[in-house]
Amino acid sequence: MPELPEVETIKNVLVKIVNGHKINKIDVYRKGTIEGDANEFIKGLTGETFLSMSRIGKYLIFHLTNDKVIVSHLRMEGKYYEFDESENDSKYAKVVFHLDNGKKLCYDDSRCFGILKLSNEKEYQNLEMISKLGPEPFLVKDVTPIMKQVSKVKKPIKTTLLDQTIITGLGNIYVDETLYASHIHPLTPASLITKKEWEEIIKNSVEILNIAIQMGGSTIKSYHPGKDIDGNFQTRIKIYGKEGESCPTCGHTYRFIKVGGRGTTFCPICQRKKGAPHNIGLTGKIASGKSTVLDIYKNLGAATLSSDEIVKDLYQKEEVASLIEKTLKIMFSTKVVNKDELRNHLLINPKDKRKLEKIIHPLVEKEIVRFLSEEKNPIRVVEVPLLFESKMDHYFDSIVVIDVDEKTQLERLNQRNQKTALYLKEINKTNKIDENKNKATYLIYNNGTLSDLEKVVKKSLNEVTDLIK
Ligand SMILES: [Zn+2]
Repeated sequence: MPELPEVETIKNVLVKIVNGHKINKIDVYRKGTIEGDANEFIKGLTGETFLSMSRIGKYLIFHLTNDKVIVSHLRMEGKYYEFDESENDSKYAKVVFHLDNGKKLCYDDSRCFGILKLSNEKEYQNLEMISKLGPEPFLVKDVTPIMKQVSKVKKPIKTTLLDQTIITGLGNIYVDETLYASHIHPLTPASLITKKEWEEIIKNSVEILNIAIQMGGSTIKSYHPGKDIDGNFQTRIKIYGKEGESCPTCGHTYRFIKVGGRGTTFCPICQRKKGAPHNIGLTGKIASGKSTVLDIYKNLGAATLSSDEIVKDLYQKEEVASLIEKTLKIMFSTKVVNKDELRNHLLINPKDKRKLEKIIHPLVEKEIVRFLSEEKNPIRVVEVPLLFESKMDHYFDSIVVIDVDEKTQLERLNQRNQKTALYLKEINKTNKIDENKNKATYLIYNNGTLSDLEKVVKKSLNEVTDLIK
């Protein structure tokens, strides 16, 4: 479907084709394309001359002699083609204007959703389809009326920006681009958007629309703005339709979700979500102090869940134990998982670690999903040691990575378990914390004291709490 920049481009192409030309004859091949009476449309416009064109949102307005006006909306597939009278009409021509210069203008519409309506200078702006439209971003000088209009709206900002009665002219592509440029998460309730953020949204949407207009629109698939004109805006698209690509700002992979049924691409790190709940994924290297941080969050009032605890519970289940026995071809001396025996087996058979993860990860993930959907506390923190490896980072609004130097790691491990310390280099190699640090919303260095750590964790939690207010 053409969006505002394409319609602007079409207008600029059409105006050169029609201006100053008289309509000698009109053929209406599909009456349903004319809103109102088709005969009146023909009678009212034959003999009139095109004077100028304008655009309101995605409506094209043709101004003619005797105050006559044609309002046209292309919807899905509507197009205009110019032909010589000697040429055939376009394949899906619905209305054909024969001009006084030996040319004809075909309104073509394979899907038949577009409309043409006869009106006049006095009335066209009061037509319901036009008068209900909100202002275009270009015309918004003060955001206060918009804020008032959406103050009670629980709908996400993405849905709100697509609502043409609030702001006109932003379609799916331009809303995704605008929200990315404004660092706003598409699911943020519109009522939580501050004045400053609304001003950002307006400023960015104007900039993006202007670039798109300069480049002639985005030319998505079947759409062409006019003969010999091709849109180039697609080369400037930063996020729309780029699911799976990584964000040039933060390096995080773009995510794709549906918002109000519309496909939506966003950066989970650059576009912070406002409004509860807020889910924090906590991860870090071995002996980095993850559990300590989780405890700090808990003491500060957040709901917490530890994957290690989930695994501990799973290991107490006989069916899990027998599944591990079968897959790794071992026998525990106990009915439930014997952790020492399992650890020893993995030291001898390091390749079995993968097999074990294949059993355990989905079960842990299931528990995490259950926790995130049932927990009433608006702030939830889940510790997931292999957050990135297990690809569970997308469940979380922000990600906390605890980093630590190897010296501190060794000291802590030596206090705990001599054996693990021996394998530290190996263990650090298998986990992907270092290469994923850039995905962290908060990167916390835990080489200092507990009170240092408490201060940083508290600060991050305060920011998140402010965010969901
Ligand atoms: Zn980003």
